This record gives sequence, structure tokens and C-alpha cells, in this order.
Amino acid sequence: MLHHVGVYCASSNRIDARYVAVAEEMGRLLAERGLELVYGGGQVGLMGAVARAAHAHGGRVYGVIPEALKTREGVAYDVADELVVTGTMQERKRLIFTRADGFVVLPGGFGTLEELMEVLTLRQLGYHDKPIALVNTDDFFRPLLDLFEHLYRTGFARPEYRVLYHVAPDPAGALDHLAAYRPATRARGMPVRRPPR
Ligand code: AMP
Repeated sequence: MLHHVGVYCASSNRIDARYVAVAEEMGRLLAERGLELVYGGGQVGLMGAVARAAHAHGGRVYGVIPEALKTREGVAYDVADELVVTGTMQERKRLIFTRADGFVVLPGGFGTLEELMEVLTLRQLGYHDKPIALVNTDDFFRPLLDLFEHLYRTGFARPEYRVLYHVAPDPAGALDHLAAYRPATRARGMPVRRPPR
């Protein structure tokens, strides 16, 4: 059952308002569907937008932020229902990864891509079988999806790995995918291993 949704997204404030609107829509839908937001605990960029919107609609917010980033990311989102401060980035990622029942990726920068690639590669290797959905606002992820196709064409990744991620046009589509997901749809023959410590 889907209860906790991990959301990876931008910390940047220098982005177009349409991305902010999509992040707010994600926060609202999480609240309306009774799903907890599990995220990086920041109050900047799309991270802050999702969290504030979830709260504004009565949702629950669980944030995890490393001590060293509390200042860098414009101070943590202190009003989260639960805010865990970790010693390291690795611990932050581990807590988000283990708490979330599935992952949604909104537009973002290097940090967002790193988090996407981590959950994707862990799933490819069978360390988990949680669903991953990309919210492809205005085809934001097209260059990345084209790169993935290049990997399939050139044999660096197996085409059947396409099932490891779902590309949704909007937040509703991403959450619908997570809610409908059953582990049987994972890549054929992929064993589920325990996540690394
Ligand atoms: P960005 O997409 O670069 O704006 O970053 C989004 C979030 O990812 C921020 O909370 C960053 O702190 C986080 N982040 C940045 N680098 C990493 C990393 N190496 N591993 C995990 N998260 C990161």
C-alpha cells in the first residue's frame, strides 16, 4: 500500500513559475490523497513549494536534511511534522529511501538527478522494487530520456529496464502510477536484494 511518497526535486529558486506550479500541485495531491510527503527537508526551490502546498492542504510532511546543508539550503523547513537532521548526506538518502513506498521525481538539477539515478540503479540491480515516476513537465526530462534510449541502442543498458521508471505528464499521473504499481511489473528476472547499508 502506498502511504509515504518520496519526492526528489530542485532546490533552485531561479526557475520558471510553471515548475513551481507543478510542485504545488504535487503537494496538494499528496495531501488530498492522504499520502505523506517524504523529502529532503528544505524550504527552497521546488522542495519548499511541495512541502508548503502539502501542509496548506492538510497533508503530512517528513523531511530529512543533513546538518551541513541546513544553512546552505536556506535553513530547513522547520515546520515539517517530522524533521530529521542527519550527520551525512548518505544517511539522509538512506532514510528517505527506506521510508518511501515509491518515488516521484520532479524537475531538478544535479542533486535531483543523482537521487533519481541512485533509486533507478538500485532497482536495476534488484535492491528494491519500489515504483519510480518522473513528472515530465513540458518535456523537461526529454534530453535525459533520449540519453536512456541511446544507452539501450548502444547496449549499455538493457531495453527491458524501461519498465523501471514511468514517465508521467503531471503529478496526478505520477501518483496514479505509484498507487497502481504491483511489484510483478518489475524487470524480468530481477531479484530483490536487501538495500545496502
Ligand atoms: P538539486 O536538484 O541540485 O537542486 O538538488 C536537489 C536536492 O538534492 C537538494 O536537497 C540537494 O541537497 C540534494 N543533493 C545534492 N547533491 C546530492 C547528492 N550527492 N546526493 C543526494 N542528494 C543530493
